[in-house]
Amino acid sequence: MNEHDSEMIAGMLSELGYVQVPDRKEASIEILNTCSVRENADKRFFGTLGQLKRRSKEDPEYMVCVCGCMMQQQHIIDRIKEKYPWVDIIFGTHNIHRFPTLLGNAIREKEQKIEIWDARESSEQELPAKRLYENKALVNIMYGCNNFCTYCIVPYTRGREMSRAPEDVLEEIEKLAADGVREVMLLGQNVNSYKGEFKNPGNQQKARLEGFVEEDGICTFSHLVRLIAGIDGIERIRFMTSHPKDLSDELIETFRVTDKLCKNIHLPVQSGSDRVLKKMNRRYDSARYLDIVRKLREAVPGITMSTDIIVGFPGETEEEFEDTLEMVRKVRYDSAFTFLYSIRTGTPAATYPDQIPEDVKHERFNRLVELVDSISLEKNLAYVGRTEKVLVEGRSKRNRNTLAGRTDGFKLVNFTIDPSAFMEKGEACSFDEIAEKLTGTFMDVRITNGKTFSLEGEAVL
Ligand code: SF4
Repeated sequence: MNEHDSEMIAGMLSELGYVQVPDRKEASIEILNTCSVRENADKRFFGTLGQLKRRSKEDPEYMVCVCGCMMQQQHIIDRIKEKYPWVDIIFGTHNIHRFPTLLGNAIREKEQKIEIWDARESSEQELPAKRLYENKALVNIMYGCNNFCTYCIVPYTRGREMSRAPEDVLEEIEKLAADGVREVMLLGQNVNSYKGEFKNPGNQQKARLEGFVEEDGICTFSHLVRLIAGIDGIERIRFMTSHPKDLSDELIETFRVTDKLCKNIHLPVQSGSDRVLKKMNRRYDSARYLDIVRKLREAVPGITMSTDIIVGFPGETEEEFEDTLEMVRKVRYDSAFTFLYSIRTGTPAATYPDQIPEDVKHERFNRLVELVDSISLEKNLAYVGRTEKVLVEGRSKRNRNTLAGRTDGFKLVNFTIDPSAFMEKGEACSFDEIAEKLTGTFMDVRITNGKTFSLEGEAVL
């Protein structure tokens, strides 16, 4: 979501005539879009801000802007005002669209501008984005979260849940499709609780007749996915994130019947211990979670799964941590984002007395990562010999003479290609030309090797 906010900020700056520079030292404006999920991100933010002081003092034209989740917390704003007065603009998650105005005012009046809103005005504040990829797009379908997991700061920084109207989402995706986008990632803190209401009575009536709303007139997430699948040009649909407590049988059925919905799900488990899950206020237990996994795998054979896991939640015992390892062994995730629990000021878990010592957390974390990685590697090695359809993203970051793309199951594939197959007017094309030609297209790739975080292969031409 932060990444998409950054795309929108870049979009607004492009409209104002600014261009992105490869080296931050050349930038006349630096924007730090912050994340608050972990303490480490906070520390890095303040470290970076400190480094910007010198240039800020030396160059009166240079501007430092800060935004994102951290700015929705008063203690952070107070700290910036007191210790980092060279920051020119501070804005929050609910008023990104105000950035051009704040920028104009700060430049004209040569004074610091701080504007933080407590809540979003409406769900209609989407802005033109400067996309990271030409053929893939991030699309917000909702904002905020009502779940209040006890460790999480997001409901305080992103506000209460608000779903966008289905027409607005569909219109945005139709425009993206017309602009060459082939894959959309639908974003929400908990997409499974999406509840869209059509704004236009005519659209509402049509959706009712076609079965895209419930009796009460609500368009559910499954309905929305099926509506998006009807848009010409969009060939892949993904979503993030999905809360297990709200994952419905209807969505599992939507996976089964909707070819365009990629066979991949990110389903954060956080812990394998029922007592810890309860203390986290996750509102599911390990049995319910495993039941969802079973149903998904029955309905969608070959579906890939990733998760989030927190290690060292307050009070977590060795046995409870072992329950998490057991969960990982049972589900056999394709990948997992593993986190050391860190105190987030303002959340209930921050006040729990039984915080786990750092050395214990680290020791458990290492064991978890070792297990997760070994399973990822085994699963990736099982792809060797298979041919996978990938959406080409461009040149690989690791080796500039190979291409990179993603499978339907979201596996990253770095692959070679025979350049002799590409001729232009009797002459062989350069690798740059080949990469440009193929980016955004679908290609068959034969998998030749599996690594922990990616696959390797060769294009089938
Ligand atoms: S569902 Fe829980 S973890 Fe996810 S954003 Fe909401 S409060 Fe945070």
